[in-house]
Amino acid sequence: MAKQKLVVIGAGMASGRVLEHLTDAAPDAFDITLFNAEPRGNYNRIMLSPVLAGDQTYADIVTHDEAWYAERAITCRFGEKVLEIDRDAKIVVGANGHVPYDQLIFGTGSDPFMIPLPGHDLDGVIAYRDLEDTERMMGLQPGQKCVVIGGGLLGLEAAAGMAARGVDVTVVHIMGHLMERQLDEAAGYLLRKSLEDKGITICLQANSKEIVGRDGQVKALMLDDGTELPCDLLVMAVGIRPSVALAKTAGLAVGRGIHVDDQMGTSDGAIFAVGECVEHNGAIFGLVAPLYDQARVLAQTLLGEKAAFVQKTLSTKLKVTGCDLFSAGDFADGETREDIVFRDPARGIYKRLVIEENRLVGAVMYGDTGDGNWFFQLIKDGTDIEEMRETLIFGPSMQGGPAPDPLSAVAALPRDAEICGCNGVCKGIIVDAIEGGAGDLGAVRGATKASASCGTCTGLVEQLLQVTLGDGFELPSAQPICGCCDLTHEDVRRLIKTTPLKSQEAVWQELGWSTRNGCHVCRPAVNFYLLADWPLEYQDDPQSRFINERKHANIQKDGTFSVVPRMWGGITNPSELRAIADAADKYNVPTVKVTGGQRIDLLGVKGEDLPGIWADLNRAGLVSGHAYSKGLRTVKTCVGTDHCRFGTQDSTGLGIKLEQALWGSWTPHKVKLGVSGCPRNCAEATCKDIGIICVDSGYQVSVGGAAGMDVKETERLCDVATEAEAIEVTIAFTQLYRENAKYLDRAYKWVAKVGLDWVQERVADLDERASLVAAFELSQSIYRKDPWAEHVAEKAEAYQPMADLTLEAAE
Ligand SMILES: Cc1cc2nc3c(=O)[nH]c(=O)nc-3n(C[C@H](O)[C@H](O)[C@H](O)COP(=O)(O)OP(=O)(O)OC[C@H]3O[C@@H](n4cnc5c(N)ncnc54)[C@H](O)[C@@H]3O)c2cc1C
Ligand code: SF4
Repeated sequence: MAKQKLVVIGAGMASGRVLEHLTDAAPDAFDITLFNAEPRGNYNRIMLSPVLAGDQTYADIVTHDEAWYAERAITCRFGEKVLEIDRDAKIVVGANGHVPYDQLIFGTGSDPFMIPLPGHDLDGVIAYRDLEDTERMMGLQPGQKCVVIGGGLLGLEAAAGMAARGVDVTVVHIMGHLMERQLDEAAGYLLRKSLEDKGITICLQANSKEIVGRDGQVKALMLDDGTELPCDLLVMAVGIRPSVALAKTAGLAVGRGIHVDDQMGTSDGAIFAVGECVEHNGAIFGLVAPLYDQARVLAQTLLGEKAAFVQKTLSTKLKVTGCDLFSAGDFADGETREDIVFRDPARGIYKRLVIEENRLVGAVMYGDTGDGNWFFQLIKDGTDIEEMRETLIFGPSMQGGPAPDPLSAVAALPRDAEICGCNGVCKGIIVDAIEGGAGDLGAVRGATKASASCGTCTGLVEQLLQVTLGDGFELPSAQPICGCCDLTHEDVRRLIKTTPLKSQEAVWQELGWSTRNGCHVCRPAVNFYLLADWPLEYQDDPQSRFINERKHANIQKDGTFSVVPRMWGGITNPSELRAIADAADKYNVPTVKVTGGQRIDLLGVKGEDLPGIWADLNRAGLVSGHAYSKGLRTVKTCVGTDHCRFGTQDSTGLGIKLEQALWGSWTPHKVKLGVSGCPRNCAEATCKDIGIICVDSGYQVSVGGAAGMDVKETERLCDVATEAEAIEVTIAFTQLYRENAKYLDRAYKWVAKVGLDWVQERVADLDERASLVAAFELSQSIYRKDPWAEHVAEKAEAYQPMADLTLEAAE
């Protein structure tokens, strides 16, 4: 069958998505021609703001490059505007010639609205819509002046981006507060304050009268009260209008936008429209999330599948670092509506929930938006909130469930919960992609598009990676530690040491954290850095630990826990085994398993039984095996000279000594050791973080092995003659790793970054080795302790089911 001729007008975000769906599902169904008035193909328009702010480059935001179009045999006519459509002849007339079509798609987007003030046509008066506008703003030098008319999302992103470049920016807004369509007055006030802190001047209730120029170039904006605001560039960001002129001349039904039905069909059966240029059931669109829904529906329609576009509630976030705001639903006042408001002026936090007939219909938050997605889900689901009304404003952590833990919150979300609003990607799709091999943020973005647009759901996607991959998850390198600050892990580590900073509060304050208390990503890292660098001054913060470390047991997929007692160097005895068997009987442990690290795992223990089972095991002399920790896990040994014909040294004895020296230590990631009594290497020591092979002449110490997501053989650190030296070198290496590695970097990754030579030099220098050992011992004098015994003695009641607590709170 001959291919259908498909012509697309506009290489925008909506039509680009249609082409992706179409060419993925039916690569040979259409012969496609793509017109674009811009001299380029598809890029992520919403990321122009990070480009402006200098956080990204244009190359970073290109979504479809030349190769992409070539692979799909799409004929590109970029830089060519479509001037006319002959619907009878089914021909599109471009500036450089015409093209026939069987089906035609309008994806012409919007035209920025320019207020027809005197002087609006001067050079230097621009909109904020495309790369050219962005480049114009980027061309301003520090100290030059810019006026932005419009205090909405776009105007503020433009203002913040230019201010970040040192430009002197004034925002002129006609209303009484900023972003009045998304925020109420209180939140608008906080936003204004934080923009002013960035050096931006804000003029509210300011009416523009005239744009003043000289020699055809803009010089100032004059307000109607006579104030003159000098400027080298004037950006108008006052709104957009669907781009309908072409559709109108072609005779299509057009209102505010091109009229479309649920299948994105226009009044002409062969013509469709998607994106900001359409009007659907009276609504027009200005954010990408609904456009992407439209794109999916249109692609399905063109492929003959059944699909219908449904309008959904939307949420908004501002992409300005340090301005944490969230707004969703409808928060206008109304007789049947009630508000719940929370304010904390000292911390600049404001939250307002709007309730109608026991349902949440709107939410506005400033300063602490961590629960935004949860509120948004309640709005979309129309959940009856009567039961949780008292504690609703405090978010999901106060709804009678377990203590706040972002990971358990994400783990508990249903598969169909939406994670990426822009791209409409739900949890199930992301988890499937991760399980299918997408092991980092980039891969998840590639496979699902989640977090690939405005990026505000990146934290959630990272949490899903963490929940799904467990220990296999590693934070990407050379990026800010998280969305709370702009510093990398390395910078934060350096500043904690040199500034010096000895508490979390000092870190948040001095390093300019944009959140009140950090987040699930930075808190565990900062907690580790502080305790590694300042063991005497800093107090470990359990709330900054992942759930397994907080509970001192591994949480399993059914919500029960697995308990692993330590077995020093893999050695046990009948009375320990008896105690383990008794504990398994007493607490109805369904599975008892021998682990790969020579220990016994009691799987399926209920949370409330943890203190009991720990106390019983403690009584038999067993302590926590830290099987859950970013710290020392096991020292695997072979039987060595005691029993084996080949052993040259007492590998089991050395393993026990090493485990007793290192246990309880916290490290950037888990640490596993192996000690083999001869080169036959029965303990598989050469795929551990630290492996020791005993040989006739002494001990070969090697480091940086792995046998997880990556499999890697260790590299020789050094050879030593005595057992004491082997222990010393092992401790020195561990401390070096603790002092220098990025949190969640396994030892092999860290060694690869700093170079084995560097590590060898540090450890070979006897003074340095001694001071590393001393620093490690100092830290161990505080942290070498059994957390099970501690929790049994001090916190046992915290493990009881939460139900009783809920009752007390309600009473
Ligand atoms: C700076 C900025 C930041 C934004 N931030 C966000 C955000 O954080 N979140 C969010 O959801 N949305 C954001 N948006 C809005 C979002 O970018 C738009 O909703 C989206 O790009 C609209 O997609 P579209 O395909 O309808 O149109 P567009 O992406 O605008 O594409 C339309 C294309 O059609 C071309 N065209 C028009 N007429 C013709 C013609 N006659 N012939 C040939 N080509 C033609 C245009 O040149 C243009 O390239 C932002 C927009 C901007 C400008
Ligand atoms: S590694 Fe060597 S000493 Fe150890 S059990 Fe194997 S053969 Fe024996």
